[in-house]
Amino acid sequence: MRDFGAEIEQRKQAGLYRTRRLVSGPQKPELIADGKPLLSFCSNDYLGLANHAGNISALSEALPETGLGGAASHLVCGHHDAHHQLEQRLAEFTQRSSALFFSTGYMANLGVISALAGRGDTIFSDRLNHASIIDGCILSRAKVRRYAHGDVSSLEAMLAQTSGHKLVVTDGVFSMDGDIAPLKELARVCKAHDALLVVDDAHGIGVLGPQGRGSVLEAGLSEADVPVLIGTLGKAVGTSGAFVAGTEVLMDYLVQKARTYIYTTAMPPALAKATYASIDLIEQDDARRTHLQALIARFRAGAQELGYQLMPSYTPIQPIMVGDNHAALALSRALEEQGILVTAIRPPTVPEGEARLRVTLSAAHSEAQVDRLLKALARCRSLLPEQAVQEPVAV
Ligand code: PMP
Repeated sequence: MRDFGAEIEQRKQAGLYRTRRLVSGPQKPELIADGKPLLSFCSNDYLGLANHAGNISALSEALPETGLGGAASHLVCGHHDAHHQLEQRLAEFTQRSSALFFSTGYMANLGVISALAGRGDTIFSDRLNHASIIDGCILSRAKVRRYAHGDVSSLEAMLAQTSGHKLVVTDGVFSMDGDIAPLKELARVCKAHDALLVVDDAHGIGVLGPQGRGSVLEAGLSEADVPVLIGTLGKAVGTSGAFVAGTEVLMDYLVQKARTYIYTTAMPPALAKATYASIDLIEQDDARRTHLQALIARFRAGAQELGYQLMPSYTPIQPIMVGDNHAALALSRALEEQGILVTAIRPPTVPEGEARLRVTLSAAHSEAQVDRLLKALARCRSLLPEQAVQEPVAV
């Protein structure tokens, strides 16, 4: 039998051991984690809607109407009119013909990719795509070719050499780097080489584009350019679940084929109602996005002035590059001692030698809270390995 305990010990030695924290109370910047009050900069609740009073009321008001559980899969008797209305709302919000509601983004990626590509087909996947995309590719049994991060010319060369059905898949906003995929160029090469383009906009929906409609619309691209759009609802939307949006034929095909849609219990319908309310809010409330952008600019200027190395990102994902796993853990611990929570992200979530602190900003943060983070970072600058220090940028 495998020695699982020894494998865990090895992970600990390599600085790769993973732990969980016990959160009590609602998700918000002022978090209670393991019984301690901490100021959190690591949630994906980019607009501060996970604890929004209006969305909470939408959920509690819906409960007596819809009951609690989904009770069955969508194809048996779980497909509630609350799910149907949300699908229509999501299609309208993303300016697409139709949408299909999934239980999580992980399941959407698994189900969509494995339904749309199979044995004999080829999938082209950006090297930094999310784990759920990687797993969807494996599950599809298609041939998988990874292209260098954001490198459209090497992708194009690969596409030109390949015959048969081709699918290209990319994160819209990369979850660990915060940069945006070159969507216009990807759409162009996919058209030229008759490849189906799938964009997972988990971190763009709600945050980017006109009225938060996501990175695809920010790039001015339509359903004809990006036929398959995936979005998650547990991040900026503040609830839970995910969706796929595209033509009616495509959604119908997914209902027939996507196993993670077919063989799972429908989400509680009341949650679909709360999500609907949250989408309304996202569409109407530009002030949250404006505040968020101001916080991002404030953090970037302050951290670069301190000599921290950031990524070329203008999204709420603002990783501080450290490199060494142990150094990333030490920096995270030093911040925690000052009452600030930022988790260290290490391989295999990021490439070897690229451990980092994944700072995320939210519209729920105040400027004073960002300044508190910067002050704490100033105090632990000495923990940064020499090679991770940048020439301070004067602002
Ligand atoms: N895609 C990306 C790019 C993600 O970052 C994540 C979550 N971290 C997912 C999909 C999975 O979404 P969910 O959390 O809804 O399962």
